[in-house]
Amino acid sequence: VSRFEDVVMAPPDPILGVSEAFRADTSDMKLNLGVGAYRTEELQPYVLNVVKKAEYLMLERGENKEYLPIEGLDAFNKATAELLFGADNPAIQQGRVATVQSLSGTGSLRLAAAFIQRYFPDAKVLISSPTWGNHKNIFNDARVPWSEYRYYDPRTVGLDFEGMLEDVKAAQDGSFVLLHGCAHNPTGIDPTPEQWSKIADVIEEKNHIPFFDVAYQGFASGSLDEDASSVRTFVDRGLELFVAQSYSKNLGLYSERIGAINVVCSSPDAATRVKSQLKRIARPMYSNPPVHGARIVANVVGDPSLFDEWKQEMELMAGRIKNVRQRVFDNLSDKDKSGKDWSFILTQIGMFSYTGLNNAQSNNMTNKWHVYMTKDGRISLAGLSLAKCEYLAEAIIDSFY
Ligand code: PMP
Repeated sequence: VSRFEDVVMAPPDPILGVSEAFRADTSDMKLNLGVGAYRTEELQPYVLNVVKKAEYLMLERGENKEYLPIEGLDAFNKATAELLFGADNPAIQQGRVATVQSLSGTGSLRLAAAFIQRYFPDAKVLISSPTWGNHKNIFNDARVPWSEYRYYDPRTVGLDFEGMLEDVKAAQDGSFVLLHGCAHNPTGIDPTPEQWSKIADVIEEKNHIPFFDVAYQGFASGSLDEDASSVRTFVDRGLELFVAQSYSKNLGLYSERIGAINVVCSSPDAATRVKSQLKRIARPMYSNPPVHGARIVANVVGDPSLFDEWKQEMELMAGRIKNVRQRVFDNLSDKDKSGKDWSFILTQIGMFSYTGLNNAQSNNMTNKWHVYMTKDGRISLAGLSLAKCEYLAEAIIDSFY
């Protein structure tokens, strides 16, 4: 008899479990719109040309595989903070930013969560309802209490801005407020610049600490600067804040696990201390981060011609998703004779569309139409080709009514 008799079967992951089910389906019609991973029009995974070039450079230079320091590759940390805040940002120039390379967005969030648990034991994290499925797991595992603020309004399939402000206001002073820097996952609904500024007002008034999750910089609008403008608004106000970054999507480095946690502090001295504690938390967890993705990012961002080429490739990816978005909307408007307004699909931004399909309707998409998606009605447009938009629209209309 095993000593693991009391270990019960864990449920499949709500997002990655969708890919497992997709692989098991033998239909040729099947579509995987579950996980947020970019595919070409031929629905194949895509390795960016700049990534291949950077890797070639690395081989040529004969770089070694020695350990990185706990905080990661210096050139990467410098590049990633500059990309996020802007190289001429006073916070960077004054040495007020603690940046630690970590295991992509997820690992960076987890590291910050451990830091919050240790140094802000009485604080709560406010997260949007709904949010990316893994946020709750991350804070649960780090034993950081959280609660939700209103974000999505099902009646308008838009932002519940008043509800959001009310909930952020009602929270205990000094709470952490988790915000999606751009391309909110799963809804694809972002605040406008005016709304961001009102959100910042309330956060400032309440002495809250903003905690940005930036997993899609450059992928939402196609512009790195535009997608970082929410974060920069808060930094410009002189607020202390956290930002977790990921290069999974914008450089297609999903499995390289490359990202960073940045803590903007009000003094260089505080930044030095915060960084030392982040390193202290990382050391017993994973010791030090992997070098390969860090070198890719540092090479791409550090070389003006590769940097330009990256921006072009990113625009191409963001552009393909926008075309797919438009085509899905056109087909839905065309085929749906009920007069329902589907224009919310066009106002959403990023990889995802939040269709408004409920759990049962999402199940119909999968069981009858072989369209794999998360049960909250989210579809990844990055996993869809123009050629399949008509099929998807038929599936949505059949499932909706
Ligand atoms: N945050 C959000 C909102 C995301 O959508 C994702 C990726 N799906 C991540 C963080 C982190 O992903 P990764 O760990 O691959 O960088």
